[in-house]
Amino acid sequence: MGKKIIVGILLLTVFFTVFHTLWNKPAPLKSGMIDDVGHLLPTKIDRVVKGEEVEQLEKIVMNAKKQGKTVSIAGQRHSQGGHTYYKDGVVIDLKSFNKVKKVDPVHKTVIVESGATWGDIQKAINPYNLALKVTQSQEIFSVGGSLSVNAHGRDIRNHSLASTVNWFTLLTPEGKVIKISRTENSDLFSYVLGGYGLFGVILEVELQLTNNELYKVETKTLDTNQYPDYFKKNVLGNKDAKMHIGRISVAPDHFLDQVYAINYMDTTRKISDSDKTLKEDHSSFLPKLALGMSRTSDIGKDVFWKLQYQFIHSINGNYETRNNVMRSESKFMEFGDRQDTQVLQEFFVPVHEFVPYIDDVRDYLQYENDLNVLNITIRYVEKDDETVMNYAKEDMFAFVVLIQHGRDKESIQSATKAIQKWTDITIDHHGTYYLPYYPYQSKEEMLKAYPRTEEFFKKKREFDPDKVFMNTFYENYGE
Ligand SMILES: Cc1cc2nc3c(=O)[nH]c(=O)nc-3n(C[C@H](O)[C@H](O)[C@H](O)COP(=O)(O)OP(=O)(O)OC[C@H]3O[C@@H](n4cnc5c(N)ncnc54)[C@H](O)[C@@H]3O)c2cc1C
Repeated sequence: MGKKIIVGILLLTVFFTVFHTLWNKPAPLKSGMIDDVGHLLPTKIDRVVKGEEVEQLEKIVMNAKKQGKTVSIAGQRHSQGGHTYYKDGVVIDLKSFNKVKKVDPVHKTVIVESGATWGDIQKAINPYNLALKVTQSQEIFSVGGSLSVNAHGRDIRNHSLASTVNWFTLLTPEGKVIKISRTENSDLFSYVLGGYGLFGVILEVELQLTNNELYKVETKTLDTNQYPDYFKKNVLGNKDAKMHIGRISVAPDHFLDQVYAINYMDTTRKISDSDKTLKEDHSSFLPKLALGMSRTSDIGKDVFWKLQYQFIHSINGNYETRNNVMRSESKFMEFGDRQDTQVLQEFFVPVHEFVPYIDDVRDYLQYENDLNVLNITIRYVEKDDETVMNYAKEDMFAFVVLIQHGRDKESIQSATKAIQKWTDITIDHHGTYYLPYYPYQSKEEMLKAYPRTEEFFKKKREFDPDKVFMNTFYENYGE
């Protein structure tokens, strides 16, 4: 194909992408309605109440209970399955319950209110040269929301997020505040963490911290088949490697056969004041446009993958602090569209299953034309022994999948069928899937992926028999 034709196609794709984005702005929600970032579950609620103080939160719960209303808990509302609201219920919005109450540089701990985001904490601990042990890749999420899903990210050395919690206080369905740790009310620890807001409001939390180290960025391109051995030897087996993320290609030219690995390595270079500055999200127009192009065409996906190659290898040899690795860009992914939604799915498989699993997923997706997969990143998640709804039964690779599909009933049904099939393949490889997303999976799949599901919901029914704390997730799977 001539160069002019390729440039012409690219320009047309750019024009179409910009035009499509501007033309399809979504309509605002009707008053009294709420939804989450997936926009697939708009729901009429009673009211949203801002939580600001513990005593006020106690009153909100007691009043709702008296009025026979349910209570749902909302942090930053990035979950996508109606986890933060329930029909006709009261939603407690914890964004303003966000004080960082105490930083202890000697014991390396921090006490925070649960509505604080990782970003709020980073601002408070960065001057002490301290950092969080485990967070998602971005700092935009709330502590309460992250603990309630037991989130994970780029760290490969500090186990699960739950394992970094010393204690927390919980506002119970009775309106009482209790302290929970591995020694106090310890039976609740493993239910509330990863408990999706079903046991009460997590109020204050003490988290363990670590040093805000400086890392040297190391990048590599690999064939998919080489990746697990490379990871085991050069990343996990190399004590200098502290954090890691992988990207696997969804571009037709390299469909699931190429991985970009990014490692964050210990360095002897001293951390400078300018290194320490917390970076802001300056997601540029270019990645947004490239991701936008990949939404609409195969050529767009190939271009996006090539641009990622340029970007990833351009950062090879750069230095970045631990705090900044935990603040990666997210704004370029934001998506508002009248007809379509952008959703996440996440699948986990044991480390040794990586190659056969990817082979099976590739075989399946090559014939599955209905699922528009935009991006897949790879994380490493260590075995978690602390939570009941545990997605890492052993050391796992996590595949975070960004998908776009229509919002109409037919498109949702078709996505559900495809995602259920993908989930079955995952389960066949002794894997699990992540629960903070849209309820595509069936209850049967949940029971297979989470063998302690019934025990989890039984504890919920015992602890909260009047169903004070409710959300759409519980309605879908727990009732
Ligand atoms: C773009 C994007 C990227 C993501 N990346 C990652 C990732 O890298 N790793 C990962 O693990 N996950 C990731 N997720 C999922 C995300 O981590 C979870 O949805 C997390 O819960 C988000 O925090 P939040 O403050 O938005 O929680 P919310 O969505 O507000 O709440 C999540 C759950 O926690 C409950 N909850 C919130 N606050 C409290 C509280 N104080 N007490 C009790 N229950 C509470 C809610 O009721 C709800 O059930 C991502 C999601 C998106 C949209």
